[in-house]
Amino acid sequence: MASVGEVSWLLGIVAWYIIRYPFERRAKRVRVVRDYRSLSEKIALSVAFFGMAILPAFYVATGIPSGADYTPRLWAIAAGIAVFVFGLWVFRRAHKDLGRNWSVTLEIRDQHKFVSRGLYRFVRHPMYASFLLVGLAQALLLPNWVAGMSGLIGFAVLFLMRVNVEERMMLDNFGDEYRAYCGTTKRIIPYIY
Ligand code: SAH
Repeated sequence: MASVGEVSWLLGIVAWYIIRYPFERRAKRVRVVRDYRSLSEKIALSVAFFGMAILPAFYVATGIPSGADYTPRLWAIAAGIAVFVFGLWVFRRAHKDLGRNWSVTLEIRDQHKFVSRGLYRFVRHPMYASFLLVGLAQALLLPNWVAGMSGLIGFAVLFLMRVNVEERMMLDNFGDEYRAYCGTTKRIIPYIY
């Protein structure tokens, strides 16, 4: 049963990349006019990538660290698959809603438009919400304390190191419009946080 969880995680991550790839290609064609990247931003992105991709992929390929394994549960695997599918749906919708304003990092693009439609009506950071869901799915699908939990830790590092800087950048560029928007939306969980 452990391998069902591992294969599901692998399929989910491949689907994640298939969803992202066309947006990444398109983004290369839109000029960046203001770059807010910093060393801490690069560290945050690397930690998230390590925790959500490298470490779990290494575990799925080698079974290391096997000392941290625990008994897999059917309910956890079923819930993990459901959460992953929902996370992928949110991830795709957020990309579509942001359109040409999307960036993997913190930057303002040529003719950047402030988006408050679609999922952005409910939360300011649906893409980070989807990372939280994918991290949760990883914890449910991989019955290993290290490889399972590393996704949520990677997400937390990226989110906490970025969210304030990103909101300040949006305020800098969109002023009152963004301030009013912050008053009517939550960050990642509708109506809660
Ligand atoms: N934090 C958002 C977006 C992540 S992508 C989310 O989780 O869904 C990061 C880039 O998106 C940033 O560089 C910023 O330029 C852009 N961005 C973030 N919120 C935006 C918004 N409401 N409208 C337009 N662009 C936005």
